[in-house]
This record gives sequence, structure tokens and C-alpha cells, in this order.
Amino acid sequence: MKKYNSSPSEEISNLEQIQARTGHVFNDINLLLTALTHPSYTAEHTPPPEHYQRLEFLGDAVLQIIVSDYLYKHYPDRQEGALTKMRSSLTNETATAAYAIELGLNQALRLGHSEIDGGGRQRKSVLGDIFEAFLAAVYLDGGMEEARRICLDILAESGAEERLAQQEECNPIGQLQEFTQSTFQCKPLYHLISHTGPVHAPLFTIGAFINGHYVSSATGKNHKQARSLAAEQALAFCADAAALPYLNGPADTLFALDFDGVICNSAAETGCSGWKAAATLWPQDFPSPLPPQELLERFCALRPCLETGYQAILMLRILMDGVDVQEFASSFSEQIQQCMAKHKLEKEELVRRFGSARDKWINDNLEEWLAMHTFYPGVIDALKTALDAGLQIHILTTKQERFVQALLSGCGIQFPQNRLWGLDKHAPKENILQALRENTKAIIHFVEDRLETLRRMEKLPALESVRLYLADWGFVLPASIAEAKNDSRLQVIALEDFTQLFKK
Ligand SMILES: [Mg+2]
Repeated sequence: MKKYNSSPSEEISNLEQIQARTGHVFNDINLLLTALTHPSYTAEHTPPPEHYQRLEFLGDAVLQIIVSDYLYKHYPDRQEGALTKMRSSLTNETATAAYAIELGLNQALRLGHSEIDGGGRQRKSVLGDIFEAFLAAVYLDGGMEEARRICLDILAESGAEERLAQQEECNPIGQLQEFTQSTFQCKPLYHLISHTGPVHAPLFTIGAFINGHYVSSATGKNHKQARSLAAEQALAFCADAAALPYLNGPADTLFALDFDGVICNSAAETGCSGWKAAATLWPQDFPSPLPPQELLERFCALRPCLETGYQAILMLRILMDGVDVQEFASSFSEQIQQCMAKHKLEKEELVRRFGSARDKWINDNLEEWLAMHTFYPGVIDALKTALDAGLQIHILTTKQERFVQALLSGCGIQFPQNRLWGLDKHAPKENILQALRENTKAIIHFVEDRLETLRRMEKLPALESVRLYLADWGFVLPASIAEAKNDSRLQVIALEDFTQLFKK
């Protein structure tokens, strides 16, 4: 791009080119010259020629009315919010500077020396200003229709329609809002469910709610990205005709269910994964691909004692060494500690070995891995009935979502993906419950088999109204049941009563 002002002969040729390019021949060429004169040029010349600032003031309004009128007539189905955003994308500084360059106005711009040296000819704010001043000059010289013609031509040539279409595609938040306003006369609500990851690479999970119903959630690097992804998923969900009965349906009760230990019995799977991991440490003692049945039964009896997966390795080691189940249960933590010390094992190593043994098993033989899970009696039928009745059921689990889906679909349940909160959502259960609580008026029932998890919920004032149940059939110790029975905030629930809960 040229740096200095044009010579007088170049100037004449520049002005001619602008007029040829736009198809408007000025009656008063001074209007065009003024539109191209920067205040810094005026300051350096005697007598001082008029600069463009008054024209720019007028041109800003001319541009706004032309573009507003165009959008109003071409997009009759758009709300004012969407139209405002569209107008802004066509009239902001970046856009107007591009129009100025497209028309060759930058070539004819008259600048003072300080502005020339400061790069004024490339500055977007200056270029945007001269486009507006130019539009005002055309308006004064040739009238509104002439200004409209030139303006709409340049918008079309610079790909405005394509940009608007792109903006539409990239704007699921706006699209979702339009949908919910026209269908439910309400705006979608977004709620931050979790904020995880290290300081330099945070992750935000945001849920979208429509009409008091949870619809979708997504994780992104910032709020805007997570919100936009959640809106995109919500749009996909709403596009399905089956979504409308749910969104319009009764919002008075919501069930949030833990998976392992409430719906699904995964004790044998944990024992077998532990066995496979133990085999990597002590191959001679753990020779077969799966544990002997009798040992697995003893492991399952002790399963309520287990706090995290890796302890399964140590439990099997201790059971193999002949420790009695009753004795082990009465001094679980001590036995675990002693075993780690005796074999010089660190927690991190055990976590890694347990995780990779399970991953390898899933990879090598998914069928066998899935078959190692069973469901508690009556739970699957109750779940089917409840889903068919359109009840709001959510599953909150620390398992990966695809495994939960595979296990449930094996029983003939297509569980709604948007109400499955697995490991993939990066959100602790209390955050999910808080998000659900804040966005629905429903009575929330939360069923869980870990007392520690329920204790976390109890501490949160926001969850005061959530009904908390301890499932007595899951991986729960008798001592925990006794403790829960003495806590007025908690309700201990039996399996028969749980399956009846959905029918009330
Ligand atoms: Mg559980």
C-alpha cells in the first residue's frame, strides 16, 4: 500500500477511478475531496481545507439506516436482537475499512505528515471513517437512493450475505434463543456446572435448560465456547420431534440416580479388573485370566469396604494370603496399609496398574467385560416404565458414558444421552445437582449408595430441598446404614421401595 499523498495529477486520476468504480459522478467534486481529507492534512495547509469529520458524522447515520432497512426487509423472521448483531457485523470498523479499500478510497486519502509517518493510511479507524464520510458525500450529492445503491453494491461485492450466513451457523446461542422464545415464550437458561483443569488450561462445563427441563451440557475452554456447544447440542435435541413432549411435560419430579451400586452391580467386574492388575505384579500367584469363583465371591462380600478401584488389587492379595472376610472387614484400612508397606507399593502405581488392566480388558474383550456386570432385581423394568412415562430421570456416575450406554442398551434401554452425566462431563455429582436444582422447580430425588457422597450434598445449602436416599442394596456397609438411619436428612431406601418410587 502506498505511503505518501498523491501528486496533483495522481489525485485527479484517483478521484476519477473512484467515480468510475462506484458509477457516481459528483456534481460537487469538493464533497468527495472533503470526504478524503484527514484533520491532520487540514492542519498543515493554508487556507485549511475542510476535513471529513462532519461528513463522517452524517455518513454513520446513512450507513445505519441503509443496512437496518435492508436487514429488516430481507430477514422478516429475525428478532431485533439477532438483527442488531447482523447489522453490527456489516457496519463495524473492520467491515467499513474493507469497503474503503475495495472502493480505492485509501489511495486518495489526504493525510498530514505525522499521520503518514504513523501509518495512518493503513489504520482501520481512519479507513472506516472515510467510507462513512464518502457515503455522506454521495448522499448529499446524489440523494439517498444513490447512496443506497452504492452501499448495497459494495456490501454484496464484499460477501456480506456469506458472512451473515456464516455468523448464523456459528451462532447456536442466538438460534436456540429464537427457538425457545417462539416455542415456549422463554429464554434458555445456562448454568455453570463445573470448572476444572489447571489454571493455564481451564475447562468449563455448562448445562442448558429450557422451560425448567435440563436439555444438554458441554465442556469448553471458556464460558462462551461451552455455552455455544451446549446450545448446539440443545438445538440438535430440540430438532427431534420426540423432544417436545419432554420439554412440555410434567416438570414436578426429577430422579437423579447413581449407577454402580444402585442400578448396576459391578462388584465382579471390579474384582476381575483387580485380579488382572494383580497378575502384572505377581504373575505366579494370579495365573488365570479370571479369578477362581470362590475368591471372587469373597471379594464381592467385601466390596462395600472398597473406596477406590486400585484397592481391589490389594484386597485380592490379602484374600489370597488367607485372611478371613470378617477379620478383613473389621480392620480394612489397616490391612490395606500393611499390604502396601509390605510390598513397597505406592498409590500412584496401583492406580495406573488398575486403570491399564481394565482398559486392556475392555479393548481385548468388551463383550466379556460388559457381561461381568449385572443389574439389581426389578431395576431395569422400573427404569423402562419410568422412561416410557416421560419421567425426568438422570444418571450421575463416575463411569464413562459409553459403557453405561452399552450396558443399558444390552437390556433394551435407550437412555437419553443428554441426561447421562458420566466421567466425560468432568463434573462432581453435587455440581450437577446444583445446576438441576437452580433450573427446575421439580422435587429432586437423589439415590446413591455411598454415604460419603450424600454427606457432601448435605453440607450444601443450595441442595437443602433435594431428597437424599441411601440405597441399602448397593455397596454400602452396615455401619453406614445405621449412621444414615440416625440422620433425619437422609432416608435409607430398600430395593422394593426404590422401584416403587417411580410409580408414585
Ligand atoms: Mg455407587
